[in-house]
This record gives sequence, structure tokens and C-alpha cells, in this order.
Amino acid sequence: MASVEKEFPAHIRTRGSFETGDRAIPYPTAPDPLSVGVYDNHAHLEFADGDNPMSALEHLERSVEAGVLGVIQVGTDVETSRWSAALAAREPRVLAAIAIHPNEAPKLIETVEFDAAMAVLDELALQPRVVAIGETGLDYFRTQPERQDAQREAFVAHIALAKKHDLALQIHDRDAHEDVVSLLREVGAPKKTVFHCYSGDPLMAEILAHEGWYASFSGTVTFKNSEGLRDALKVMPSSHILVETDTPFLTPTPFRGRPNSPYMIPYTLRSMAETLGSEESVLAAQLARNTLDVYGAFDDFAARPVSPHHDKL
Ligand SMILES: [Zn+2]
Repeated sequence: MASVEKEFPAHIRTRGSFETGDRAIPYPTAPDPLSVGVYDNHAHLEFADGDNPMSALEHLERSVEAGVLGVIQVGTDVETSRWSAALAAREPRVLAAIAIHPNEAPKLIETVEFDAAMAVLDELALQPRVVAIGETGLDYFRTQPERQDAQREAFVAHIALAKKHDLALQIHDRDAHEDVVSLLREVGAPKKTVFHCYSGDPLMAEILAHEGWYASFSGTVTFKNSEGLRDALKVMPSSHILVETDTPFLTPTPFRGRPNSPYMIPYTLRSMAETLGSEESVLAAQLARNTLDVYGAFDDFAARPVSPHHDKL
């Protein structure tokens, strides 16, 4: 796998200064490794972050040391979706999700580039290691009201694409819980529907439980002021909980503000186990099973060759 570095661009994004300013900070201390491994259900390894940014391969090597079994690498536009699919095609520890992020989609609809972008995703979705459409959804925090109709239109198109290819759906839902739920009900959710970085309250968790949708918990569940999230975690059936980093964002307590990486998953998992009063190893085994239920197996790489033209970025 050393060849990944030579043939593959290590980073195609830099973490935005709007959130971080000029960062010159190291990655956090590695946690004690897990005795039972889990998967990171949502990461953006294409981002350079911190004062010495790790490449995708470095992220994966350190995550293996922490007991992380694999990573769902998530695209947010055409370029990062292509990069995600290409990384997954080369790397047995990675599966890919592809989408136009809800904060990007309205601009593409306005400039009439959205249909062409969706056609690229439709093609990428044929690759065997592309296992989800996402992140897609609604973000009323970052998107002005006049663009929210376009955002809903894009979300509906992504739901249709997931159903067309029988792929899981990874939802980004920021300050838009009611509209996300009602849109999913209106058009019909894909069989495997995941709320990435779950941010709802316990009542919404009851809706997810009722619908058979999944809640993926990020480092936010470790934050001191996230009592509502921990209450929501307790409401979810154990079969429908996932764990993620959202690397390079949302680094768990006590490392908030530092760059994130899949190797940080044990901090979040241990916090979840404490909230649930579960054995760490029992929860880890359950979460690993849940990831495989949603996305399928990571380790049949050799059995699913990808044609060379799919590898080009
Ligand atoms: Zn994300």
C-alpha cells in the first residue's frame, strides 16, 4: 500500500480559516488501543490540518494502532467524491460515500451545474467500494432561507440516487431536523439511512428508532454541554448506533480545537460506553456489527477488482 502515496494526492483540501484561523497545533495524544475494534463511520481524510498534516495512509496506519478496523471516507463535492472513490478502490481499510454537500448544492443549482455533478455521482456509484450517498441533507445554519428550496431539491435528488443504486444514505442535518424527517417520509427513505453526527434530542431519537434509521455519534457526544445528545444515545436501540470522527472536525474532549483523526475514535466510544453503562468491548463489538450491517464488508477488496479508468482522479 506504500504506492498509494506516490500515485495519489495526499490532500486536496485545507481546513478553512473561517473555523480555525492559522492553526499551528499538533495532533492529540493517542488513546489506549481498543481491545475490540470498531469502524470510523465518517471522515474526510482529504483535508490537510494542523501543523504537520497526516496523509490518508498515515491516518489509517495510526488508526490501526488504536484498534480502528476501517473508515468510511466521505466526499462533499465532485472532486472529493472522486478522490474518496479512488482511495477506497486502492485501500482495503476504506469504503467511500459520495455526494454534493448541502452547503455546496444550492450554488450548483443556481449555476446549472448540479445535473452534471449528479451524473458524475451516478457513475461513481457503480464502483463496488462506493457504499453510500452522503453527506447530503439540509443545513439551515449555514444556508440562507432563499437557498433552502434548492437545498431540499438537492437532498431529494440524492435520496433518489441512493435508492437507484441500493446504497446507504448519510445525512447531514444541521438545524433542520423537522424538514429532514418530513422529506424522508414524503419521498421514502433508503433502506439504510444514517444521521451522521447525530444532533437531535431524545424525541427525535425515538423517531429514528421507530423508522429504523441509524444515529452516528461524533466527538460532540463527549462535550460537557451535550447532555441532550447523551440522553438521545440512551433512547436509541443498540442495533442502530454508530460512531464516527468527522475528521478533521469535532475532536472529542479533552482535545477540542486540535486536528481530528480516526485514531481518536476510542475517546468517543469510551464516553458512549460510560453513558450507556456498557462494557467497552461489548459496545465496540455491537458498533462494528452495525457498521457492517449498513455498509457491508471492508475486507473483500481482492474479490472486487475495479477497472483502471475508475482510478483516475
Ligand atoms: Zn462530514
